[in-house]
Amino acid sequence: MDLALVWRRTPQFVVYGAGSVAARRVPTLLASGCRVTVIAQKADAAIVELATQGRIDWQQRTVTQASEQHDANAWYVLALDDSSLNAILAQQIRRIGGQVCRADAPDDSDFYFPAVIDRSPVMVTVSSSGTSPALTRYLRQRLETFLPAEIGDLGRFVRDWRQRVRQQLPLAQRKAFWRQWMRSVAPERVLARQTVEAETLTQQLLEGKQPARGEVFLVGAGPGDPDLLTFRALRLMQSADVVFYDRLVGERILNLLPADAERFYVGKARSDHAVPQERINQLLVEQAQQGRRVLRLKGGDPFIFGRGGEELETLAAAQVPFQVVPGITAAGGCAAYAGIPLTHRDHAQSVRFVTGHLKDGSCNLPWSELIHPEQTLVIYMGLAGLPQICAQLMSHGMPAETPIGLVEKGTLPDQKVHISTLRDMPAYLEEHEIQPPTLTIVGSVVTLSSSLGWR
Ligand code: SAH
Repeated sequence: MDLALVWRRTPQFVVYGAGSVAARRVPTLLASGCRVTVIAQKADAAIVELATQGRIDWQQRTVTQASEQHDANAWYVLALDDSSLNAILAQQIRRIGGQVCRADAPDDSDFYFPAVIDRSPVMVTVSSSGTSPALTRYLRQRLETFLPAEIGDLGRFVRDWRQRVRQQLPLAQRKAFWRQWMRSVAPERVLARQTVEAETLTQQLLEGKQPARGEVFLVGAGPGDPDLLTFRALRLMQSADVVFYDRLVGERILNLLPADAERFYVGKARSDHAVPQERINQLLVEQAQQGRRVLRLKGGDPFIFGRGGEELETLAAAQVPFQVVPGITAAGGCAAYAGIPLTHRDHAQSVRFVTGHLKDGSCNLPWSELIHPEQTLVIYMGLAGLPQICAQLMSHGMPAETPIGLVEKGTLPDQKVHISTLRDMPAYLEEHEIQPPTLTIVGSVVTLSSSLGWR
């Protein structure tokens, strides 16, 4: 829908012309509850269809300066191909007191069609006062990013509560109540469809109680390129009071956090655990119990080799509310940015994600399951043990010629893709200085990178 107007009585619109402009405007008008008459000799298929369905009145005739009778109470959209005829009609209509919107001349219009983001009952309209439809569309797209699809639920929630708030609070306190409510975690609960919690919180606020607990957002930040964040991730990031982030979350993503959010680095390098996992779990609980919005930001996806599950178990045990936002995992991000489809009907019918992090130098991977010829193998955290991994795969029967790709700093501006074979990779590693993070992909799909790599 493009037009949001609330009418007290059904307005009558008359649209001159039935080309592409009319085809865009008429459905909009119908959706806004208007009655529409279209006057044109030839009509776009969409208009013909609406006329056939009886949803509009199409007066099929040639329009001339002399032929037209206008109605002072109607609203007119002038979208004929003939600009001078539009100008004459505009004059005639104004002479009897009618309102005109000219598709070909914003300056000669009495009203405009704003772009609308429809999240009923919430409507956000954007207008450039007719100066640039392209600018209006651009702004709408930008705004769409920040308005979650569930914002309509928020509208309904507030609408339902307004009545109760009105009954319980005098006018002077109502404004303060809603300001406090909007700043609380309640809206976020509504957006996350945690309605019972949202109701409880709202009731507590209404009774003048400070709700005790905050909330934890476990958010996947993706593999590195900030463009690969989800809308939801960005929204929650921007509402955080305190952030705990990992080593894999880069500067460009941290720059998207609110300036006043407190930040704690709790990353771990290999074998160097900056903050022990138990301590992280504890910190999340403590901060949330102080009523703060706690963002736990992790590289990739929090549920893939991310210990997200462990952190949530502690939160659940302490009855701290939480929500989880998936992120693009390194396998997906690196594969896409390296031009290596993880499955391909000519190469691999399945894909397997394993961790190559070897405890005490020993390998405990199920090697014989990993050497299936039509399976792509993705190895996370496997750089240090890679020579050993190559040797094990070969000794369990994987051909020495099997292609192996190493994606270094995947999706980042300095991403590099290294391609070799199981046999040659150990020597390759000795000759090249490769920086973490790296992801290893094994299988014949790796060869596609030479033709499908696009970065
Ligand atoms: N939860 C994360 C994985 C954490 S384990 C996810 O879903 O992606 C950390 C490993 O992920 C690294 O050792 C590396 O193998 C891989 N990794 C993460 N980001 C990467 C990147 N940008 N490029 C290459 N590998 C990456």
